[in-house]
Amino acid sequence: MMKRNDKRAPQENLPVALHDIVECSVIGLSHEGEGVGRYEGFTLFVPGALPGERVKARVTEVKKRFGRAELLTVLEASPDRVAPPCAVYSRCGGCQLQHLDYAAQLGWKRQLVVDALSRIGKLTVASSDASFRHLPLSSEVVVHPVIGMDEPWRYRNKAQVPIGFDLEEGGLVGGFYEQGTHSIVEMDTCLIQHERNDDAVLKVKRIARELGIEAYDEKSHSGWLRHVVVKTSFASGDMMVVLIALTRETKGLEAFVSRIRSELPHVVSVMLNVNPDRTSAVFGRDTYKLAGVDVIYDSIGDIRFAISARSFYQVNPVQTEVLYRKALEYAALTGTETVIDAYCGIGTISLFLARAAAQVYGVELIPDAVEDARANARLNDIDNADFTVGRAEVVLPAWRAEGIDADVIVVDPPRKGCDAALLDTLIAMRPERIVYVSCNPATLARDLAVLEAGGFRTVEVQPVDMFPHTGHVECSVLLTLRGKE
Ligand code: SAH
Repeated sequence: MMKRNDKRAPQENLPVALHDIVECSVIGLSHEGEGVGRYEGFTLFVPGALPGERVKARVTEVKKRFGRAELLTVLEASPDRVAPPCAVYSRCGGCQLQHLDYAAQLGWKRQLVVDALSRIGKLTVASSDASFRHLPLSSEVVVHPVIGMDEPWRYRNKAQVPIGFDLEEGGLVGGFYEQGTHSIVEMDTCLIQHERNDDAVLKVKRIARELGIEAYDEKSHSGWLRHVVVKTSFASGDMMVVLIALTRETKGLEAFVSRIRSELPHVVSVMLNVNPDRTSAVFGRDTYKLAGVDVIYDSIGDIRFAISARSFYQVNPVQTEVLYRKALEYAALTGTETVIDAYCGIGTISLFLARAAAQVYGVELIPDAVEDARANARLNDIDNADFTVGRAEVVLPAWRAEGIDADVIVVDPPRKGCDAALLDTLIAMRPERIVYVSCNPATLARDLAVLEAGGFRTVEVQPVDMFPHTGHVECSVLLTLRGKE
């Protein structure tokens, strides 16, 4: 310990107090990508520190069982440390791992999955070497190396930029919320964003400033422009700009729209979404067309998708295809199967599967997403995919009661994982295969333990890096019914 502040934490017996400056060893990375440091047996989370490093850090928070500290100096650097290329990396919070070499990021993400499966799921993971040399034992799960991107930058097809006002910057600004606050920091470029989105956001902000378009002010709930959303179709290059504003009209709106169209030739659609509420939700209820068309089209594999102002669409279409192709491979369809896609969203996986199955049933909670799924089925002349609005844990038991029997069930739940009632239904329905697509290894592992106890075997796990430089990792997982293998 180098300095001890008089303001002691209430926990007298802890080895650190608030504002202390300590030297500690970093032994791991948390699932949010923060360095996990140990100081005299006490755990300190140090954002920006890497495993194997010794760092000097200032304690910023002390709790009973752990604390947090701000990295001051790296005393001994990890060989995997790289200089983060983004100028605002430490302030923005959008990325967590730019200071870690990309290959090491992928290695860490695989380990995150392995640890969750073994610690939470109590599964035995085949050693990564063994899985290539001999068939894994039937009680072992193979976790493949993470499939990363050849070019792990500029991968996002959608930018969503909060707009604010900053006198020092000369008026309207847009970028990101300074970490832990609601003040908006101006940003010129975001390295994980497609260049064209960056360019469009810059131009829209510049035009707004030149025309005196007012930024929304959260405190007084006045002004006009709240967010700018830009979407790009990687397949066609077409773009959509969505202005999210407090009201339907503002002075200079017509000029604003026509300058956006003339200075950004790829923009084929300019939409206005009105959000009149004091809320941190980005979108409001009503959307209007200001110029051009209502939707842009993108493709994943050979399936086309219509993207509207509000529709949910995967932000990394390249890796989405990789992840969903794996799901398709694990489904091992021959053309005769009935497939259920629970948590189907806009039907991305359903439509992928429909081409190879006899019939697909999708279920999704959000009515607008189901509308999109149906429209996308029509767009692709797919007539063997049926979509239902509802909770998967309610709809699947009802289908079962109606006598719908699935050969393969795909689940792609949100971060909190599958509802317990849904897992019970999967166990009762006994499909030959379950394909579990997951965005959270911890809830995946928890759910796999339930399915294992219910008669399924976790065969293999393919992690895919959909969000390079962030702490996220997605997986496609194959389970088979024991005794039917
Ligand atoms: N595969 C989808 C994305 C799935 S994301 C696609 O590519 O479009 C998870 C989805 O589950 C979200 O669309 C969310 O609205 C939906 N959801 C959340 N809880 C649900 C529930 N209980 N039943 C059905 N769908 C649910």
